[in-house]
Amino acid sequence: MSANLASFLYLVSGVLFIMALRGLSHPTTSRKGNLYGMAGMAIAIVTTLVYATPSFNGFVLIVAGIALGGGIGAVIARRIAMTAMPQLVAAFHSLVGLAAVMVAAAAMYAPESFGIGTVGAIHAQALVEMSLGVAIGAITFTGSIIAFLKLDGRMSGKPILLPMRHIVNAGLAIALVVLIVLLVTTQSTTVFWMIVAASLVLGVLIIVPIGGADMPVVVSMLNSYSGWAAAGIGFTLGNLALIITGALVGSSGAILSYIMCKGMNRSFISVILGGFGGETAAASDDGIERTVKQGSADDAAYLMANAQKVIIVPGYGMAVAQAQHAVRELADKLKEAGVEVKYAIHPVAGRMPGHMNVLLAEAQVPYDEVFELEDINSEFAQADVAYVIGANDVTNPAARDDKASPIYGMPILEVDKARTCLFVKRSLGSGYAGIDNTLFYKDGTMMLLGDAKKMTDDIVKAMEH
Ligand code: NDP
Repeated sequence: MSANLASFLYLVSGVLFIMALRGLSHPTTSRKGNLYGMAGMAIAIVTTLVYATPSFNGFVLIVAGIALGGGIGAVIARRIAMTAMPQLVAAFHSLVGLAAVMVAAAAMYAPESFGIGTVGAIHAQALVEMSLGVAIGAITFTGSIIAFLKLDGRMSGKPILLPMRHIVNAGLAIALVVLIVLLVTTQSTTVFWMIVAASLVLGVLIIVPIGGADMPVVVSMLNSYSGWAAAGIGFTLGNLALIITGALVGSSGAILSYIMCKGMNRSFISVILGGFGGETAAASDDGIERTVKQGSADDAAYLMANAQKVIIVPGYGMAVAQAQHAVRELADKLKEAGVEVKYAIHPVAGRMPGHMNVLLAEAQVPYDEVFELEDINSEFAQADVAYVIGANDVTNPAARDDKASPIYGMPILEVDKARTCLFVKRSLGSGYAGIDNTLFYKDGTMMLLGDAKKMTDDIVKAMEH
């Protein structure tokens, strides 16, 4: 295969990846988007195999690697629960980071195989690209492992604030720049491994102070880093597909992080600096005795069946309970009874953007009944019932009314404006941010304590009587 044809095919795969991202931006086109992505990746892999594989042995090794890695990936992806997706993504990112380090090490020790010079005489440009790729890759590797451990509950989600951490991190960052300059001038493999070591430590130190509540943003940020690491290595290898894909992953990860920060009204810098979530639940401890109105499935069925308009607000608890099908059934029953039903989705409901949209789409909820926060918030005032199922932080009025609250400023779904707010969850415990929800104690709120699926099923049954 000629170099021109290979470049053309890499370009085609790049275009397909862009079409994939476009398709994935809406539930109606997401299947098509996935297909574009798969086609793009297939073209990129086949082109690399045919164009860039030097020997039969190399070919066999690559195919074996794809079969092994692809097989393991397919099994894990099939088994993983939707709620464990963020930690799975974090675990996979760590591998992307590690791969970038491995490729850079291979290029350092066998530059002639990569066409970037010979040992001790590697082109300066390739060395700069390689050192950036390896540094970002190593930071991504350890950072993602810490993110995985925190998200999976194997390590405390609380921020771990080391003394003088900003100074230590800044010192390490400066040391990294110095080491990169040294590598370019001396081409020493020792310096190369010193870059790896400093970056591995930096990856841990950057992520450890970040609290669990900010972790999904961090995963998306690490996703972005892994893309830039791949793009850096792509320049070293002169591989167009890797440059395009890396840049796409890098920029889409950065945009996703921005969307999440906006959804929580947090600045990206404050997320990176860490510390959020350390003083959890303090807000609720004001010593005032508060009462909660508790209701049953029958009460809820009565209220909803007599409503004109019901807005359903799903959250993380709906995902845990896998209650989306029951919710759809409830909505169908209500619609049969002439009730107008809409769904309201907060941009950070659940554990990743789009989490709720995916679940509702799985339950075949019509897309035109699902609304984003800014499009539906004004309608709560006209709703008879807001059915909050497993959502908590995204409805907390403290974010709007209490300047002292750690989540103050985060946009919320204004469910407290509905005539009645039916709140389904198992206890009066807090949500992800660890903050008490004042909504539980408001006059218009009726708590329906129980599992989201069981409670919704019971309401459907009660409506049948
Ligand atoms: P929350 O985490 O605030 O609350 C979920 C609630 O679900 C819990 O309070 C829990 O209460 C309840 N729950 C859990 N299991 C069940 C069950 N089986 N049945 C019924 N209820 C259940 O979720 P939200 O969706 O409201 O908010 C998302 C949070 O995630 C926000 O803090 C947001 O900032 C954060 N976040 C989200 C990101 C995203 O992209 N989506 C990104 C970054 C952060 P109980 O234990 O009492 O049942």
